[in-house]
Amino acid sequence: MNYKIALIRGDGIGPEVVGAAARVIEAVGRKFNHTFDFTDVLMGGCAIDETGKSYPDGTAATCRGCNAVLLGAVGGPKWGHSTDPDKRPETALLSIRKDLGLYANLRPAVLRPAMASACPLKNDKDIDLLIVRELTGGVYFGKRDRYMTEDRGEEASDLMAYSVQEIERIGRRAFELARLRSKRVTSVDKANVLETSRLWREVMHRLVGEYSDVTYEDVLVDSMAMQLVRDPGRFDVVVTENMFGDILSDEASQITGSIGLLPSASIGDGAPGLYEPIHGSAPDIAGQDKANPIATILSAAMMFRYSLDLAQEAAAVERAVDAVLAAGWRTADIAGDGVFPIGCVEMTDKILAEL
Ligand code: NAD
Repeated sequence: MNYKIALIRGDGIGPEVVGAAARVIEAVGRKFNHTFDFTDVLMGGCAIDETGKSYPDGTAATCRGCNAVLLGAVGGPKWGHSTDPDKRPETALLSIRKDLGLYANLRPAVLRPAMASACPLKNDKDIDLLIVRELTGGVYFGKRDRYMTEDRGEEASDLMAYSVQEIERIGRRAFELARLRSKRVTSVDKANVLETSRLWREVMHRLVGEYSDVTYEDVLVDSMAMQLVRDPGRFDVVVTENMFGDILSDEASQITGSIGLLPSASIGDGAPGLYEPIHGSAPDIAGQDKANPIATILSAAMMFRYSLDLAQEAAAVERAVDAVLAAGWRTADIAGDGVFPIGCVEMTDKILAEL
């Protein structure tokens, strides 16, 4: 098969880690008899420098013409000060998610076996959960206001709103993803307080009837924050609204070790999915061959699984990463005391050799 992949290398370490993942994608092509055509797409700070805009016209159209999009990271101190949205790298991130209709953010938190010692928890070393965060609704996209009142002085408000349709589509995604895993869904809300959460819960309960092969539970967000550090191994797919998901996915990432290891995906209906490491552009180490490419390589594995329907290929990449980590190879961010780190290029070479 032939697949078209848009590569957004971006800024800082973005070009290094995307370059590493592109080498792995090509090796998968050779091993499994596929061809991958790459299209470079300019976005972020480098796009501001070249075109004056972080999200040049036509970016979404080019991505829509591909089967999937792989992104490194955008931004950096050079572009951090402008108040013009066109000249801010993060505008590009919000725009591409919106234009491609990417409403579901998938953040796996997997403790890779060889990295168990990096887990700050004492007991639970068997962590493999997937947080499915609603990405385009809720309080981050509601009406914001700042105003003066007579009795209380200055006030601000942010509106949190969810429609049945928005809840239903993310709920369905979660149940369908659970069917590919161990068929358990935990829905996280704050239904004891928030009306949006009560609607969320009602809609989820309606879906439970349609996915009777999947085990379902409701958990309140405060309790979930606790259980994630007490017993993360008991969760499989965790679905939640935008802000709760933002916070819980960062919490989950910390129990599995370095951000240099963690991939993510943002998917919608039909349009190409966007795959990216959870880390940023790491300007402090850019251009020094110190970046850990694993988060981006595992993002490419997610791309195989969720956008290209290549589960076997995804598993092969994940196995190669685990084998290299088990053999003791480490980049500086995960090396720990007394281990001599290897660079981004050498880490990629090791993974290619395993593959
Ligand atoms: P960061 O993730 O870039 O870096 C945090 C720390 O982790 C740094 O010390 C960095 O060296 C280290 N690190 C990150 N990725 C690593 C990797 N693959 N290998 C080894 N070490 C790694 O976060 P930050 O410093 O808060 O942000 C830097 C820039 O990135 C900012 O401009 C921010 O806006 C941008 N950013 C972009 C995205 C994105 O494109 N999706 C996400 C987060 C931050």
